[in-house]
Amino acid sequence: MGDAVTMEKIVSLCKRRGFIFPSSEIYGGVGSTYDYGHYGVLLKSNVKSEWWRAMLQDRDDVVALDSAIIQHPRVWEASGHLAGFTDPLVDCRTCKLRFRADHLDQSACGRKPSKHPGDFADCDLTGARDFNLMFETTVGPVKEEGATVYLRPETAQGIFINFKNVLQFSRKKPPFGIAQVGKSFRNEITPGNFVFRTREFEQMEMEFFVPPDEAQKWFEHWLGERERWYVELGIRPDHLRLRAHEQDELSHYSSATSDVEYLFPIGWSELEGIANRGDFDLGAHAAASGEKLEYVDTASGERYVPHVIEPAAGADRATLAFLVDAYDEEQVEGETRTLLRLHPRLAPVKVAVLPLVRKDGQPELAREVYADLRRRMQAEYDEGGSIGRRYRRQDEIGTPWGVTVDHQTLEDRTVTLRDRDSLAQDRIAIDELGDELERRLRAPWTSPKLAAA
Ligand code: ATP
Repeated sequence: MGDAVTMEKIVSLCKRRGFIFPSSEIYGGVGSTYDYGHYGVLLKSNVKSEWWRAMLQDRDDVVALDSAIIQHPRVWEASGHLAGFTDPLVDCRTCKLRFRADHLDQSACGRKPSKHPGDFADCDLTGARDFNLMFETTVGPVKEEGATVYLRPETAQGIFINFKNVLQFSRKKPPFGIAQVGKSFRNEITPGNFVFRTREFEQMEMEFFVPPDEAQKWFEHWLGERERWYVELGIRPDHLRLRAHEQDELSHYSSATSDVEYLFPIGWSELEGIANRGDFDLGAHAAASGEKLEYVDTASGERYVPHVIEPAAGADRATLAFLVDAYDEEQVEGETRTLLRLHPRLAPVKVAVLPLVRKDGQPELAREVYADLRRRMQAEYDEGGSIGRRYRRQDEIGTPWGVTVDHQTLEDRTVTLRDRDSLAQDRIAIDELGDELERRLRAPWTSPKLAAA
């Protein structure tokens, strides 16, 4: 097995099988913008559901929120984004391209042979200037002063400005959290590496409000929880690590931040940031809005501004990590089999039902089996082409189980159940199939790539 994965292979499989394709392709595409096709939607939606499950179902101290993308512009003034959400930018007067001043060693000059900006003798870089990453737009028909608003660059602020509403209606008290999943927008200077960094992306963020003296304890709690989430969903632990930010890397609001990093083909990179934000956000919005954003214990009369622990993940980046970790190639009977060894709970399709041949009543019976299974889980029916070709397709979209209806099925109502990873084929009664698949779907799962390494 080994690790055959490269970013090019992922991009190509995603296009070939309809997971993710470049956006606006018929107009030549817009840089670093992608559209998700059927299997991509199913996969990313499973990633988000697993995140919601971890936040809302597996515990009882987090509630959900869905705030607006366009908020009052003063939100971004108070949060510090208007003044400080910037990247340092340099222009090259020779090739007219722009680069992030702090990423020059990872950027490519526009000319051939490709070098880093500044490495050609006639490269002519300007000094670094701050470039705000927020997208601006205007509300109302007139582009006048005061009509400028911003597309949110993170979902977190929507949570802070709703702290009071949620506290009032959720009947929670610190420690408790507010979770949100939604689109965020950043005018990134150097997007790239497929969906790793795009200008429009989905975030999964949770703000956990705690009594100030419990902040460190909860910070450590969330580090452990978030690392465990990726491992439970099949990411190989040796491809995952926690990295604490150095003092000079910390954002203005944070007293401690650790990133969950994944070993992508481009090297170790951030998957998720977990920050101890202290009382910065509630304090800033309270000062700017004049509202008291604090917790008052009705029994003791104690009042305080809760501190915040924030695990902030990217749904697209996590989806990419799951794809990369799952991608595999192996030799089977002299042919290369390409497959996605996705955790069954993440797999876009759980089971494919295939009649061996398109005659003798097999398609009819297979459709019956399919109709029963699809009531329980995402299932697919496929009767076109050779059985080998149909399985290759299911392997590439990561379907963990295949059910084949053959001549014996018509005699004894049993089918073969094929396992994507081991290729084991079990004979099983149709009546037991649904329960057996649900049992397998709930079972703990580890990547077979781990055992093979
Ligand atoms: P980076 O250093 O990679 O720019 P960040 O530290 O600015 O990320 P956060 O503001 O902490 O990112 O956002 C939380 C998460 O949102 C990131 O860990 C990542 O998964 C996701 N994310 C941030 N920016 C992007 C982007 N441009 N494209 C895709 N996902 C992103």
